[in-house]
Amino acid sequence: MYNNSKRSSFGSQRRYGQSSGGHFGGPSFKSGQQRPSAGSRFGGGRPNGGGRGRGRANAFSKHIDPSLFIKKAEEFVKIEETNTIHNFSDFNFHSVLYDNITAKGYIKPTPIQDQTIEHILKGRDILGIANTGTGKTAAFALPLINQILDNPKKMILIMAPTRELATQIKQEIRSFTFGMKVFVALAIGGSFIREQIIDIKRGPHFIIGTPGRIKDLGERRVIDFSKIDTIVLDEVDRMLDMGFIEDIKSILGRVPAQRQTLFFSATVDRKVEGLIDTFLTNPVKISVKTQDSSSHVEQNVIRVDRHAKQDMLGKLLSQEELKKVLIFGATKRMVEEITITLIQKGFSADSIHGDKPQHKRQRVMKMFKESQLRILVATDVAARGLDIADITHVINYDIPNNYEDYIHRIGRTGRGNSKGFSLTFVS
Ligand code: AMP
Repeated sequence: MYNNSKRSSFGSQRRYGQSSGGHFGGPSFKSGQQRPSAGSRFGGGRPNGGGRGRGRANAFSKHIDPSLFIKKAEEFVKIEETNTIHNFSDFNFHSVLYDNITAKGYIKPTPIQDQTIEHILKGRDILGIANTGTGKTAAFALPLINQILDNPKKMILIMAPTRELATQIKQEIRSFTFGMKVFVALAIGGSFIREQIIDIKRGPHFIIGTPGRIKDLGERRVIDFSKIDTIVLDEVDRMLDMGFIEDIKSILGRVPAQRQTLFFSATVDRKVEGLIDTFLTNPVKISVKTQDSSSHVEQNVIRVDRHAKQDMLGKLLSQEELKKVLIFGATKRMVEEITITLIQKGFSADSIHGDKPQHKRQRVMKMFKESQLRILVATDVAARGLDIADITHVINYDIPNNYEDYIHRIGRTGRGNSKGFSLTFVS
């Protein structure tokens, strides 16, 4: 169930058509001689050379497209609460499904559920502009489960960018199918393919996976795309960012034209539009987006040679406008190394990482929170849950393992009503 803060974030910002092209324009970082590089220099091409999600974290991190680290801060937008029109009882769900929704504690549909469920039930194609936290999973899962109860022969394929998201979708679907003969199989990389083959050969109603593995299982004739009735693409924009475009096109091209297609994406740029035009038929467009935690963050990259990073960091930190700075290093050792060098250079800095005893971590956090410490150097894990209001800058000394970690990192700044800055070192 949503807690209050989450519920209040259900907004209905109409943003369909917003292009992410603007992300790469005119960074306003004022670092004097160290002008960050333009993102376009890194753009184009396949970002991760065959992208396979978050599998090999380090391999992935080296291949995140640096243009993803450049983005202008958005205007501050007041998110309005919207009134939903429907109740779950209005959708005429099978009673067993309705009971499971109630048992899960859902009282009212979220705006994306409110606006999409009836159209999905009618078999329409959907383009849903929505990000995580809006309840989009149930928005497509509930009507599709209901369709399966109507017609147990239905086969649904769901594609998601990461294994974690695919697994999460599976769990969410399972929580609604309690007591039903509705079966779900996963098709994700990094797990034993043999078990997945066995599961899929049993003929599940839902196959949920990442594009690479789904395509692979198609080529092995384990997944028969010609039997798919409905296809769902979740986080389309992210799948494209991760380089899955060819896999997606190939899969969509093999699913029968007579099908239902549901696209969910947080943003719609030209690449996403290209897919929409080719693969959706007269879709119902619904936009329900909450503001991202990173939307107030001016994001930029700094091109720097691996060996010159420490010097660059020193130069940046000598600027007064970097008042309260959180620096991310890839490993505990790296975090220590950065901290020691900064202290030697006379900066007020300390570190948190997994090897540091909890009481020391807490002390450092307290000092940083109370601004007795200007610079905190941290690993990703240690920075989880860090809630400090006035961090002005996040510096990614090392590139994060994946885009999710990146978003989490930069969300530490630009909190409340202040604008934040993130700078990512790219060699
Ligand atoms: P999602 O955006 O699909 O990742 O969902 C975010 C969270 O909201 C998940 O924990 C869902 O279980 C929860 N959720 C989805 N729909 C509702 C609803 N109608 N009422 C309460 N919680 C919901």
